Amino acid sequence: MTHVFQREIGEQMPLAVKGEGIYIVDSNGKRYLDASCGAAVSCLGHSDPDIIQAIKDQLDHMAFAHSTFFSSAPAEELADFLIDSSPNGLEATYFVSGGSEGVEAALKMARQYFVEIDQPARTLFIARRQSYHGNTLGALSVGGNLWRRKPYESMLIKTSHISPCYAYRDQRDEETEEEYGSRVSKELEEKILELGSKNVAAFIAETVGGATAGVIPPVKSYFKKIRQICSKYGVLLILDEVMCGMGRTGTLFACEQDQISPDIMVIAKGLGAGYQPIGAVLVSKRIFKAFKNGSGIFLHGHTYMGHATACAAALAVQKKIKTLDLVRKVKMSGAKLFGDLKDAFGEHPYIGDIRGRGLFIGIELVSDRLTKKPFSSSLKINSQVRRMAMEYGLICYPGGGTVDGLNGDHILIAPP
Ligand code: PLP
Repeated sequence: MTHVFQREIGEQMPLAVKGEGIYIVDSNGKRYLDASCGAAVSCLGHSDPDIIQAIKDQLDHMAFAHSTFFSSAPAEELADFLIDSSPNGLEATYFVSGGSEGVEAALKMARQYFVEIDQPARTLFIARRQSYHGNTLGALSVGGNLWRRKPYESMLIKTSHISPCYAYRDQRDEETEEEYGSRVSKELEEKILELGSKNVAAFIAETVGGATAGVIPPVKSYFKKIRQICSKYGVLLILDEVMCGMGRTGTLFACEQDQISPDIMVIAKGLGAGYQPIGAVLVSKRIFKAFKNGSGIFLHGHTYMGHATACAAALAVQKKIKTLDLVRKVKMSGAKLFGDLKDAFGEHPYIGDIRGRGLFIGIELVSDRLTKKPFSSSLKINSQVRRMAMEYGLICYPGGGTVDGLNGDHILIAPP
């Protein structure tokens, strides 16, 4: 009997005792190939000696000093590194301990920004269906994952949800990519006008949709149009790159490939690669200046923000990614993996779509390739895949509700 309150209570979990490169080893010595980095976290694989050494070195000096009283060298250096590498216009880094905390901070930052610049009516958020932004109440409110929201619906902040950019399901036969991108992005403009443009604070989206719909990369023109619409109405663009950021898609930030820059960006998972819990919110010059020249204080904060050991780990991870030119390698190995998956499963009767960017790949399962009909949710195909893969010693990241929050199954592949 375990006293751990597990995700799925009563599930017999193997005991992980060792990490070895792309493998996790359990207490029986069974090896599991980590083909999804858990949930797109462990991008450098497990037990990297350089990262472990950097953490030990930091611990030898100081584990933690509270950010009310001190900054630390790793926090300063990591913030410099992130801003130097980030898309144009980003100026300051707010450290947190994970993705949900990052999204929570981003939402509050957007709200307080409008208080600072004397536009207090801007309180509303627009987000997308079939998205995930985290499980804390603010992040869950903007998230568009129906089954995760359901029990908490009455507690959530009112958010308007528009369509995701999900070409496999929603692009019409007679539409070009460009036309499809225009049609879905136009929903944002319509929603802003419906709510009253002076009332909308921000639009939040995952640059490449992640775990809810099984990796949905935007069509080429989509985010350029979204960026234009946000700028036109003074609405902030928050990009959630918690899962798709930090090199996973073949550029350090996924939005580089969409040739846009957000007002606020949230990163986590691949930032610390699982060696320490850390996330960050990167903020544009304009927003940072409004805080600096306004009240001078962001009314937020957590005990472990800017944790020195977590920052030291993330800095070592990011330096290693840079030194070994891993982001470029992601592009090459992503193309190879994508090709191999297409060769192996492209014609499989129950695989409708294989899609992705870099080493961030989604495989959508269907009961009929022609009609794209999903399997009945009662079959719990995604849970079966997860269980069976584990039996074979493979970690992948299957999910359900791919199509509409209730129906559909996918498998997310995101190897180190
Ligand atoms: N945003 C996205 C896009 C995510 O994929 C996740 C986690 O999967 C989160 C936010 C929440 O991050 P965390 O689980 O670290 O709180």
